[in-house]
Amino acid sequence: MKFSTSCLVSVASIPVLVAAHAQNDFAARHAQHLNPRQASSVTSSTSLPGTSTSTPTTSAATTPVVPPTVTSTPGVPPTTTNIPVISPTPTTPAPVPVPTTTYTFSLQSTNPTAVPLTAIISSAPSSVTRPLDHTFTPGSVPTFLPGAPPLPNAAILAPASYPTLDRVPPIDSPEVQQWIKDVANSGVTIPNIPINNLGGCPNNTAAATDPDRCWWTCGGCTRPTDVVECPTAMSWGLTYDDGPSFYTSDLLNYLDQENLKSTFFVVGSRVISFPNILQTQYMGEHQIAVHTWSHPQLTTLTNEEIIAELGWSKKVIKDVLGVTPNMMRPPFGDIDDRVRAISTAMGLTPVMWTRISAAATFDTDDFDIHSGLTTVEHVLQNWENILGNVTNRPSGFIVLEHDLFQQAVEVATGYILPDALAHQPPFTIQPVITCLNKPLIDAYIETNDNKTNPPAASGGPVTLSSGAPGSVQATSGADNSSSNSAASSSLSAGLGLAFLTSVIGIAAGLAVIRL
Ligand SMILES: [Zn+2]
Repeated sequence: MKFSTSCLVSVASIPVLVAAHAQNDFAARHAQHLNPRQASSVTSSTSLPGTSTSTPTTSAATTPVVPPTVTSTPGVPPTTTNIPVISPTPTTPAPVPVPTTTYTFSLQSTNPTAVPLTAIISSAPSSVTRPLDHTFTPGSVPTFLPGAPPLPNAAILAPASYPTLDRVPPIDSPEVQQWIKDVANSGVTIPNIPINNLGGCPNNTAAATDPDRCWWTCGGCTRPTDVVECPTAMSWGLTYDDGPSFYTSDLLNYLDQENLKSTFFVVGSRVISFPNILQTQYMGEHQIAVHTWSHPQLTTLTNEEIIAELGWSKKVIKDVLGVTPNMMRPPFGDIDDRVRAISTAMGLTPVMWTRISAAATFDTDDFDIHSGLTTVEHVLQNWENILGNVTNRPSGFIVLEHDLFQQAVEVATGYILPDALAHQPPFTIQPVITCLNKPLIDAYIETNDNKTNPPAASGGPVTLSSGAPGSVQATSGADNSSSNSAASSSLSAGLGLAFLTSVIGIAAGLAVIRL
């Protein structure tokens, strides 16, 4: 059931708080995002009238996640609590408030059982983990996926047989050494592009302006091999990243309730922690795809480390599901032609999220509510900005959302998805593979019959060189109307998922950009 009446919500924002020099990987991710996000908020064209009234109430540095107890939760491993924790650190500077803005957004519908907006904050206590509605016994046959093997026994998954969680895997293991050989024998040439420094565009100024690298992060360069949108207007390729997690079951329950299917870009380290949830996602006919082993910025890794990241995540997914995804999303969207070539050599098609200008992407920024770097109100403002840019698009779109933290799931199930379902004209909400007009069997290496989705490397050698066509987008404002890949077609031969990037010029920009 949904509210049919429209509601208008206007709230003063909580200032963004700054945390840096965090100790663990996920906190470090936030530190790396600070400069672009703050800069984009200053230059955003979407600020709405209002006054600065609020004061900071929470801090990323003082609100570690306390995962709920899972010992008696069906479908959730009883011994693992491996969700990364954003921990306080003695080197964290004092919070620095930024100018506040009043956010105004409209919601055509909300979920009657939604968590109140006032409770979706970084300091919120952890909610109780919802038991999975469905679990599946080993040997269950995924009848919806012709050619797929029976479901493996997730209970025998041995974490000791895998690399350390949330760390880039070593490259001297027999598995990685074999994958390195496989890449070398794939026929795909890996371009000799230098490794990036951490810190994104500001710390890699030469790379950021080098069109030959086609680095998506700094300007949004894409290749025809990248999936960046759905081809059909009003089609939304629904995606959630960084799970499975304690809160994925809440999202699955809502998706089931509304008969929605999604693509989940899962982190290998999380799959170790929540194999039963991954099985439920898969058997629920959602699309499973790769989001690396430890969620690093791939352009900062060596070729061998990238192979290890992708290889281990492919392997653990196959060990749990019996099938191997053939799509990947680079963490932070951090991809250049070197990462693209390695992904292609490993049978993985990159899937980004839609970008409408050099500085604006369809990123709700839901990930950062948990840390206090943004607010739920700002996320809903971002969502409204996205809506303002999709209705007149000639093609569909893909939005970046997450299912790692409860706040992101709460805003998705309570507000964004109900609002999307009530939208007129209606959206067609579906997994990425479906929005590309391909059957679900095309999403896995073992079930893909190669008819409608031939692997990139199967049609003979494919070379992604530094001289491949394409160019970095113009770096002007959000109304940039250039197309960076419309003329790029030479790589499309033999690439089943190739299609052109459409960068449209619409006046309203989006407030955030994620590295
Ligand atoms: Zn991610």
